[in-house]
Amino acid sequence: KGLTKTFPLSRTIIGRSAQRVRAVDGVDLEVPGGLTVGVVGESGSGKSTLGRLITLLDRPDSGTITLGGTDITQARGKRLTALRTSLQVIFQDPLGSLDPTKSIGHAVAEPLFVHGRIRRGEMREAAGDLLARVGLDPVLTERYPEQLSGGQRQRVCIARSLALSPRMLVADEPTSALDLSTRSEILNLLLSLQEETGQAILLISHDFATVQHLAHRVAVMYLGRIVEEGPAQEVVGDPLHPYTQALASAVPVPDPVVQRTRRRILLNGEAPDPANPPSGCRFRNRCRHAMASCATTDPPLIALSATRKVACLLHEPSSPEPAREPAALP
Ligand code: SF4
Ligand code: MG
Repeated sequence: KGLTKTFPLSRTIIGRSAQRVRAVDGVDLEVPGGLTVGVVGESGSGKSTLGRLITLLDRPDSGTITLGGTDITQARGKRLTALRTSLQVIFQDPLGSLDPTKSIGHAVAEPLFVHGRIRRGEMREAAGDLLARVGLDPVLTERYPEQLSGGQRQRVCIARSLALSPRMLVADEPTSALDLSTRSEILNLLLSLQEETGQAILLISHDFATVQHLAHRVAVMYLGRIVEEGPAQEVVGDPLHPYTQALASAVPVPDPVVQRTRRRILLNGEAPDPANPPSGCRFRNRCRHAMASCATTDPPLIALSATRKVACLLHEPSSPEPAREPAALP
């Protein structure tokens, strides 16, 4: 709730300039158990920072993080160590997240050993069991990261994240470094493991098609804010925010006739400097529907129905007081 995180604009000018970038700017998001929430947006939209805040890898400047109703925002020391078993992350680059000097078996079973769930002598067997759960041959426990393919390495990272049966898994671009044929295998693996474990997944991706494939709900981020949120099929099939409309128009559709007749919506220009977002709606310099009021009014994320939210003046009630009784005529 209300998560905000700022970073100094440049490390070289710390102390000289007070200018800071709001990487995440007042974000509310709920990830229900057993479901996947996809966070989509361009690079620099703040989605990775949001994932790091949720898993306590970074601390927010303001706002709260609750896990199963318990406020964990300020967890430190032993409490934080215990919480680490509930919050796991997998990253884009599986090679970068694996120690090249440690065997696969060690990498996979290490969390269990570190948290005192198994003894050293039990590591190999535990690792073999975890590898089998992600569709890998247990003989791979003897190998080293370099000897595996990219897809196998990401399976190893998933196996390691599963070890402690976390309640929440943040997957930050988990398939971006993989070749196309391996991507859907990894996504389907995450999906079937979720059915088994009931864990909540936050799937971070710049690719709308990936998120649509896996997520139950989607949150679209632009310059640190959520601009649209709702059930995945509705957001992709009937996007409401002009930014979401552009992202959704780039998702390939299986029907060649629809694909040919559908118009791709191109965004004007580049994303603005995050340290210096436009006044009013921060999407307005790229929006094909921008109106005069968009320069002065910063649209809040409002609920249009029980399941959908959008931050755009086109979807605001036209009058600021539509729900009130009309004033009596003189
Ligand atoms: Fe476009 Fe205005 Fe809506 Fe922003 S508020 S997305 S500029 S129409
Ligand atoms: Mg990122």
